[in-house]
Amino acid sequence: MSNEKFLYNRINSKNTDFVMWMGFPGIYSFSMSSLGYLWMFKTIDEIEGVNIERICSDTENTQYNISDVKVFGFSFSFDMDFLTIFSMLEKYNLPLKAKERDKFPLIFAGGPVVSANPEPYKDFFDFFIIGDGEDVNLKVIDICKSNQDKTKDYILKHLSEIEGVYVPKYPKKVKKLTKKLSECIYTPVLSENAFFKDTFILEMSRGCANRCGFCLASYLNLPLRCVPYDELLKTIDLGLNYTNKIALLGAQISAHPHFHDVCKYIYNKIQNGEKIEMSVSSLRVDAITPDVVKTLVAAGQKNSTLAIEAGSDRLRKVINKNLTEEQIFDAVKIARDNGLKGLKFYGMIGLPTETQEDLFEIIELARKLKKENKGFDISFGFSSFVPKPHTPFQWCGRENTKSLEEKSNFLKKELHKLGITAHVSSIKWDYWQTVLSRGDASLNDLIFKAYKYGGKLGAFKKAAKELKINSDSFATDNYSFEKELPWDFIEINPDKEFLIQENQKLICSR
Ligand code: SF4
Repeated sequence: MSNEKFLYNRINSKNTDFVMWMGFPGIYSFSMSSLGYLWMFKTIDEIEGVNIERICSDTENTQYNISDVKVFGFSFSFDMDFLTIFSMLEKYNLPLKAKERDKFPLIFAGGPVVSANPEPYKDFFDFFIIGDGEDVNLKVIDICKSNQDKTKDYILKHLSEIEGVYVPKYPKKVKKLTKKLSECIYTPVLSENAFFKDTFILEMSRGCANRCGFCLASYLNLPLRCVPYDELLKTIDLGLNYTNKIALLGAQISAHPHFHDVCKYIYNKIQNGEKIEMSVSSLRVDAITPDVVKTLVAAGQKNSTLAIEAGSDRLRKVINKNLTEEQIFDAVKIARDNGLKGLKFYGMIGLPTETQEDLFEIIELARKLKKENKGFDISFGFSSFVPKPHTPFQWCGRENTKSLEEKSNFLKKELHKLGITAHVSSIKWDYWQTVLSRGDASLNDLIFKAYKYGGKLGAFKKAAKELKINSDSFATDNYSFEKELPWDFIEINPDKEFLIQENQKLICSR
């Protein structure tokens, strides 16, 4: 795209006819804020022997023809991404099912959804990358490229022998890849048409050591890894050569041993007259200190998000979010006193062991926050609990839709009475997300039909009915620890034994 700025030296003319497409299941402006996707593009773009092109759902003209593409990889971050991926495959006249594609391109996916549980999607992709794909991608491309004159099957057999690659045709135990974070990953291409216009995003840390019982971002990415401090400063300076907008990314950036030093580094630059706008991904309550808030405010941030997850100290203990009401009030006071204009609190409903009492406590918390912080903008956002593979709560069934909708309406109504805006995610969509999240191979037929029927809620219901699939068995059933789970073949640390112990410890702490 003509208005893109590349932050690395691109090889001008490549002497190769090997073409790869990197697919993003969303529109261009969103793709430009997707760090993993863009970084993957950069690492492959830097290979002399590969021509790579980014393809988004709204891409109109492509530089290469689909008939020249040997590998088409997709980033798969959200359960429902498959809908857009299928429409992109159809747009280029590619059969959706892998067994109906005897010619190139090979189609693969990587990202948190398929790393956690690829089974519901395995009929459609030739292979999956499980875990941090940055390094293995190069190996994968090398095999595909050096064997492009061979059959698809020959290449797949080879790929199945690589650690971290899952080829459904050649099933085996697959070890999840965990990258050492010695270098800093950043937005290698800036664009004024990005959703976050011209924003330089850099990853400070990966994973989260807090291990909340429901949290895939934590459990899929253990151990917490932090980018070395000097690397961070070097990367920040690189970004500031091109733009004044910086975003720090990480599931738990405040756990980085140098988080406060980084804030100070930026703050000092601003004090010295540099015009910098900085934002951070959601902060933990215990990371809110006067210095951090002053930096955010000096860098133009007016509001921030605090994830409290649940309304009561009791329930926060059950989910391992050991955060007290007193800490929440202290954080709000610091935020307000140091210049933020408002905070959005993020929580979940339907968490294991939740009772109506916990909901009353959310309302009570909101009432007290509002009363003590007049003129400060307080809002709430909720989603409903979706049990995720590889977490201690993977065995916990979700509450039924009717009761969750009642809870959702109760919260919206009661918070509205207090003059507080509350947004709750769609309970019905969260239900289908759970089905996919804990799904097995039988769901391949379901998602195929659901897509063909238009991909709306009714389409999922209709498909399940026709196929006689009991979706509740994935969504609301509690599982026994002995049950074999569809994603057990993925080897990941911590293992299942540890998750069982953690589940018992947390649920028993009620
Ligand atoms: S603190 Fe946030 S990122 Fe960390 S485990 Fe808990 S929910 Fe996940």
